[in-house]
Amino acid sequence: MSRVELTGIAKSFDDLQALDDVSVDVEDGSFFVLLGPSGAGKTTTLRVIAGLEAPDVGDVRFDGHSAGGATPAERDVAMVFQSYALYPKQTVAQNIASPLRARNVGPDEMQKRVEEVATLLRIDHLLQRHPGQLSGGEQQRVALGRALVREPRAFLMDEPLTNLDVKLRVEMRAELTRLHRHVGRTFIYVSNDQAEAMAMADRIAVLHEGRIQQVGTPEEVYDHPVNRFVATFVGSSRMNLLDCEVQDEVLIGTDGWRLPAPPAALGHPGRLQLGVRPEDLSVAGEGSGGHALRGVVYAVEPLGDRVLLDVEIGDTVIRVKAAPTVVHEVGQALDVCVDLTRAHLFDHDTGLA
Ligand code: ADP
Ligand code: MG
Repeated sequence: MSRVELTGIAKSFDDLQALDDVSVDVEDGSFFVLLGPSGAGKTTTLRVIAGLEAPDVGDVRFDGHSAGGATPAERDVAMVFQSYALYPKQTVAQNIASPLRARNVGPDEMQKRVEEVATLLRIDHLLQRHPGQLSGGEQQRVALGRALVREPRAFLMDEPLTNLDVKLRVEMRAELTRLHRHVGRTFIYVSNDQAEAMAMADRIAVLHEGRIQQVGTPEEVYDHPVNRFVATFVGSSRMNLLDCEVQDEVLIGTDGWRLPAPPAALGHPGRLQLGVRPEDLSVAGEGSGGHALRGVVYAVEPLGDRVLLDVEIGDTVIRVKAAPTVVHEVGQALDVCVDLTRAHLFDHDTGLA
């Protein structure tokens, strides 16, 4: 069992600051996701927790005790990577047992633990095979098995599903959530895929350029992003951003549109951006009231249950997830309704909400 706390972690490689004042508090037994684009500092954060990398400044604590100076083995955390790194000449059973062999666990106890883990991961029928005879998904389960068999205090997982095809990734998300519930230990999971993070996390920390942008539940980071980066990175489709300004309680778009200014915008000087997700926009006449922007259809992409429209509003193209009941054509003029209760405003220059 383990609560994992990072306080004020900084780490530089030569003149590149990979981590800058990173602080997170991971509750014991939670599924915590570090989410961010490539190069954000996610792997470095995991390596600092595991003791594979020493921070320049800051502290890592396990259950309130500083890990400063503790070796990776003493920290007793297990890491799972996107490359499975299995031993090709050993069977699945031997691969899973390998961490136990290093610890002088007796053969009966070893066999029992390997079988338990294999059953939990649904690979008990594969124990005598070699890694070369397994699919990617099966290999990833063996790698997970090798981490689980040790019963470490926490699991650190670095984009473990990246090498799987889309369908399997989605299946494995549910499997990992089930596994987490079953073992009840702290999971710190690194991902660059916001859908994965939203599906699995108790809490998400969004990391960008070595800095924590926001920590919260999936709902909090989706509904109340603290800045433009979080708003555009989280969500199944990219948030639309429209340049505007406030004048006399009216939001005036650079492209000429006008909307009543939300309370948060009142008195805000200078340039703003209105952020609205495609799912919070609709086409006038679809039954949703609200305030409209006049535009022209630029592209139509049917998705089955919804249709994605790219709509030109002046010089800006925005994306709308519309109902598929009405046929839309390129070049057609329409009104796009904005749900202002679900809109976000950002300072144009700082990006802050
Ligand atoms: P992520 O896992 O989010 O993609 P990383 O933590 O791997 O990001 O890397 C963060 C930044 O630190 C990147 O710019 C990367 O190039 C740099 N970096 C990571 N490890 C090293 C290293 N050992 N030496 C030099 N630069 C590194
Ligand atoms: Mg990485």
